[in-house]
Amino acid sequence: AVMNKAEKLAVPGKILDNVDIFIFDCDGVIWRGDSVIPGIPQVIENLRAGGKKLFFVTNNSTKSRAGYKSKFTSLGLDVQPEEIFSSSFAAAAYLEQTNFKQTGKKVYIIGEKGIGEELDLIGVPWFGAEADKDNQPNMGSGGRVEVDHDVGAVVVGFDRHINYYKLQYAQLCLNELPGCEFIATNLDRVTHLTDAQEWAGNGTMVGAVTGCTGREPTLVGKPAPLMIDYIAKKYGITDRSRICMVGDRLDTDIAFGRNNGLKTCLTLSGVTSEDELMDRVPRKKGTEGIQPEFYVETINDFFAGAPS
Ligand code: PLP
Ligand code: CA
Repeated sequence: AVMNKAEKLAVPGKILDNVDIFIFDCDGVIWRGDSVIPGIPQVIENLRAGGKKLFFVTNNSTKSRAGYKSKFTSLGLDVQPEEIFSSSFAAAAYLEQTNFKQTGKKVYIIGEKGIGEELDLIGVPWFGAEADKDNQPNMGSGGRVEVDHDVGAVVVGFDRHINYYKLQYAQLCLNELPGCEFIATNLDRVTHLTDAQEWAGNGTMVGAVTGCTGREPTLVGKPAPLMIDYIAKKYGITDRSRICMVGDRLDTDIAFGRNNGLKTCLTLSGVTSEDELMDRVPRKKGTEGIQPEFYVETINDFFAGAPS
């Protein structure tokens, strides 16, 4: 079968005329690491001036919405917390939707700051995360790790201080506490902590917990529908055909858009090359067959005559 190829956006108006709401992935679209991609502050200003509604969705759980608000501000971008949907926020939104607070239970976190900050905002008690970074399990004769029997969910996000204690704690919660939920912020296999190479992503942390439990997590980040469903409900959006998901990853961003009835636009400013998109080189594992409708060099291409 001939696969439909993405269309390189040559007529900028084409996307602007047919879209009212843009959902932007962050890393690889707005910034790379800690540097804003050139031209983006102006693009955002122009889209707002044109009456477009904007949302920013990131699978990176290490910061909360408030943390991202500071990052946007430091990069010269005027973005409000309510426009930001991080996978840390999504984990909290999931717990809120499922009335977790009413169970009186607590959350054990493998992850960095963002998840706990979001849980604080919805009044769900939690522990673990950074506080357990130097813990070691007692593996001496008769040694055991005591778990709090009130843990009702384990949330696993990107954690640069993951250790054997945290894994044993999560293992005991998920294997021994009846009804304990397993929630993953995202499953990105690798991530771009630096420009120099790819780094082991949250698929690593989730994979470790899957390995000792045999359990599949509930995914709240892209490509799962939670964030778009949340946005649609909150803002009363019924027609998704005028929403465009813009991202640099096929298996998270473009799959998120395609699976959920959105228009999709890939930008080459991040992890996907034009050769890969056009199948001139083999696709990365998990991205086979995923095609956006449009693609651009950077989102500067939304506007005619813009530098790219
Ligand atoms: N997770 C981590 C830890 C990251 O560092 C990144 C990107 O830097 C991501 C996920 C992907 O983020 P995004 O969805 O904004 O591309
Ligand atoms: Ca990205």
